[in-house]
Amino acid sequence: MKAVQIVKPNDLRIIEMEKPTIDEHNNVLVKMTAAGICGSDVGIYHGTNAAATYPRVIGHEMVGVVVEVGPTAKKVKVGDRVIIDQVVPCGHCYACRKGRPNVCGNLQVRGVHIDGGYREYMAVPDTDCYLVPDCLSDTEAVMIEPTTIAVQCCSRAQLESEDTVLIIGSGALGSSILRIVKQFHPQKIIVSDIDDAKLQEALQNGATDVINSLKEDVPARCHELTDGYGVTVSIDAACVKTSLITALQATGSAGRVITMGFSVAPTEVNQFVITSKELDVRGSRLQNRKFQDVIDLINAGKIDLRGSISHTFPLTEAQKAFDFVDSHDPSIRKIAFTFDF
Ligand code: MN
Ligand code: ZN
Repeated sequence: MKAVQIVKPNDLRIIEMEKPTIDEHNNVLVKMTAAGICGSDVGIYHGTNAAATYPRVIGHEMVGVVVEVGPTAKKVKVGDRVIIDQVVPCGHCYACRKGRPNVCGNLQVRGVHIDGGYREYMAVPDTDCYLVPDCLSDTEAVMIEPTTIAVQCCSRAQLESEDTVLIIGSGALGSSILRIVKQFHPQKIIVSDIDDAKLQEALQNGATDVINSLKEDVPARCHELTDGYGVTVSIDAACVKTSLITALQATGSAGRVITMGFSVAPTEVNQFVITSKELDVRGSRLQNRKFQDVIDLINAGKIDLRGSISHTFPLTEAQKAFDFVDSHDPSIRKIAFTFDF
């Protein structure tokens, strides 16, 4: 079968690899039908993702159809359309025992530490498969995974309707987060970005206020918009050098600051801004079994992921797809691979 392997940074190849077989643990064989390109896939391709190991078959937004099940498989049957959870935890470390497998001390992520979805078949445990809603095409269904990331950060923030929320960044991640934050009906949803067009879009999608961070001071504006208190939750979906201090300054007493970035660039913060307000600074990584939550939201008609794919490429044209991503063409929203080649 064919697969896309990043042999080493900036070296993408279409390879032939052996088709996997099911066993007692990986008891479901999935024939892949769609796989999304995520910023982190691009990072692994370019060698900027510190977590990745090489050579690696990347892709963690993995949609397919079940073609074979073992006797122990209960959750799915042949013919089911599924999306596959990317988190493979050890099950016994402290994080796993605390019910937080997404930050397992021995974490393996499909498409990052172990081979992912840019290949024709995958053998996975039935418990990692989630049924794709009928209203979504296979390519649209890849969007379930980024949406789980948004659900995870809202869960980490313990979002409630009395919160006022700042989302820093209105790109792909920020827009997914906005979509989920809205579900909690907070008092205010403030979105900041450097791009006016993206801010306009955020307003159309439910932001109550927007701030262009090139033109205005984000913390000052957040205090103005919240009667001087500061927001109660800030979520960093921009993950740039200055966004942590911005979030800390924008957030009021007893608030939560959620970080999502993977940058290792040092950034200056001070203790007072955290201690004086007893801020909770919490990381949000991947997702902790959030696929069903997202699927339930879709099936309940609360979120609509239809129409979110801007471009598709057959998997065998992966090089062309990644070159297109590098062109930063403004028409790019979400790109998905198809497997009809
Ligand atoms: Mn992703
Ligand atoms: Zn573990």
